[in-house]
Amino acid sequence: MLKYEVAVVGGGVAGLTAAIYAAKAGKQTIVIEKQDRLGGRAVSNKIKGAYFNLGGHALYHGDALATFRELGLRLQGNQPSIDGYGIWKGKLLTMPMGFKSLLTTSLLSWKGKVELASWLAKFGKLDTHRYDQISLRDWIEGNLHDPMVRNLFYALLRTASYVAAPDMQAAGPVLQQLQHSLQGVLYLDRGWGAIIDELREIAAKHGVRMLTSSKVVAIEHRDGAVQHVRCEDGTLVEAKHIILTAPPAVAHQLVLNAEATALHAWREQAIEITAACLDVALRRLSKPKQQFVYGIDQTIFLSNQSRAAYLSDDGAQVISVIKYQGEEKNPDKDLHDLEQTLDLVQPGWRDELVAKQYLPHITVCHDFLHMRRQHQPGPAVPEISGLYVAGEWASHGELLVDAATASAKRAIQCILAREYTERKPENANRNIV
Ligand SMILES: Cc1cc2nc3c(=O)[nH]c(=O)nc-3n(C[C@H](O)[C@H](O)[C@H](O)COP(=O)(O)OP(=O)(O)OC[C@H]3O[C@@H](n4cnc5c(N)ncnc54)[C@H](O)[C@@H]3O)c2cc1C
Repeated sequence: MLKYEVAVVGGGVAGLTAAIYAAKAGKQTIVIEKQDRLGGRAVSNKIKGAYFNLGGHALYHGDALATFRELGLRLQGNQPSIDGYGIWKGKLLTMPMGFKSLLTTSLLSWKGKVELASWLAKFGKLDTHRYDQISLRDWIEGNLHDPMVRNLFYALLRTASYVAAPDMQAAGPVLQQLQHSLQGVLYLDRGWGAIIDELREIAAKHGVRMLTSSKVVAIEHRDGAVQHVRCEDGTLVEAKHIILTAPPAVAHQLVLNAEATALHAWREQAIEITAACLDVALRRLSKPKQQFVYGIDQTIFLSNQSRAAYLSDDGAQVISVIKYQGEEKNPDKDLHDLEQTLDLVQPGWRDELVAKQYLPHITVCHDFLHMRRQHQPGPAVPEISGLYVAGEWASHGELLVDAATASAKRAIQCILAREYTERKPENANRNIV
């Protein structure tokens, strides 16, 4: 039996972030991870000298970047240029990402160019929270007139959020994500595994114990308060506070009598988003100018991540191609579409292939802010004292890894607020955060 003040289930970005903030607040903290390495979906795989993330990853100017900076991560890497191409009817055409490319692109009529120019001028100042309650489709159809301007916004917003469900997706968060992406994103040297290496180092420095290869099988509670985390190998961890960063369905499964708690509603309302990802390392690019491509009439995105980051020990170029999946998933067709995109953008790529990774169906997020959502998940599970959730699915409007870090901090703030009021009950109604 191990005894800790805070036990965190899951050692991805959310779990490590929560653990570091808990430890910094003086709590004895343990992270329990079922895999044999930390990182969850933010790991990088090194194959034949090339660093592959689990699909193309870019760090936006959102909560995660601010959190990592606050924690002292070095985050080496660079910002790629956002100039690129769009695929329309099987052709590569200049994507209008700024005023110069807007003038030269053949994707838009003059009328479309004028409309897009006016949006480029005002988009950065848009108050996106006004659109949290309407769908992305309603925002686009209600605010944009030119059909191609609409197509371009669908492509950009899909790429910024990884979600290809405009009828379901709330407009506000994804518009904000596009604002962040237009400020430029960061591609990281050696991939996102570098974030995990740094988070692990900082966690260790603050005394966090990290248990890997330990699958949690139950969260036990009695009289409305958490008691133990039970692992498959029999390890029992007693903790006053338990933070679950596993997906909503797993969290529900682990907690005894979860049907009687908010975990049930959070699981029921969750909508999972998946993608098919093909990453390749190429010795040489046949078309060095064609490194950043948005699908306009198809849900595809291609980026040469090596143009801004160190991703291979022998100079190979690491290119990520992603297909955003809707309801339909067909691994063979998806692979065919991804390879066809490479054929179009980098003809002859097969002859230059050094290494390759194909993920036919990976979960990008287990939930997000959508029109069918009734409740914001977490931070506390109200029916069980000491139980909290975090992870990208516990988003309160943030997207992707920003939701992972923001929800982790919410859980810790909730723990600290609870302890504060337990120490001084007269402060119960004061806001300490
Ligand atoms: C293809 C792809 C592309 C992406 N691109 C971007 C991007 O460009 N920008 C961006 O911001 N974000 C991106 N993301 C999202 C980002 O990777 C995730 O939001 C983030 O890594 C999620 O962190 P997490 O800690 O919430 O979840 P996870 O990383 O999934 O961590 C949860 C952890 O819990 C562990 N676990 C589960 N069950 C148990 C159990 N029973 N016992 C013990 N441990 C358990 C898991 O093994 C895992 O390690 C992308 C994701 C994918 C898949």
